[in-house]
Amino acid sequence: MEQEIGKSAKPKAKKEFAQGRLIDTYAAQCEKCHKWRVIDTQDEYEDIRSKMLEDPFHCHKKQATSCEDPADIDYDASRTWVIDKPGVPKTPKGFKRSLVLRKDYSKMDTYYITPTGKKLRSRNEIAAFVEANPEFNNAPLGDFNFTVPKVMEDTLPPDAKLASPIGASSTATSKKTISKQTQD
Ligand SMILES: [Zn+2]
Repeated sequence: MEQEIGKSAKPKAKKEFAQGRLIDTYAAQCEKCHKWRVIDTQDEYEDIRSKMLEDPFHCHKKQATSCEDPADIDYDASRTWVIDKPGVPKTPKGFKRSLVLRKDYSKMDTYYITPTGKKLRSRNEIAAFVEANPEFNNAPLGDFNFTVPKVMEDTLPPDAKLASPIGASSTATSKKTISKQTQD
């Protein structure tokens, strides 16, 4: 069970969850030049992240890009960055993995959306869903991963505690880290 900050009861947590920020930009860091490259789709990003350890990201893996080109995006506080762990498996086909940054920036929450539109927030919920819907049992349970990216404190807005949910965030990945950015 995740611990809530403060003495919030469940309904409050749910509300914060609903008001959180979603990732709006994906980025991967080149192992050679350390520049950040924006990755266009979640699918592509997850593919890079899942293989990051064996197959580190390089600029040339992005179409028409080389280490000579200026960085697509800089790691700075103009947006909130969250850094993924490398090696998180790609989301099984038909499912969608969602990450939400809590409104108070304390942490991220992850959940999966099933092909039927149901939100699943834990491994137990996934197992129960697959058991009740055997047509999806080709999705390996081990590929559902609830590891959340680390919220990078040095990129939080100065007024993070008071901030409205309108703002930017990103998530990214590098060999040590992967990152994404969020904005709503
Ligand atoms: Zn490079």
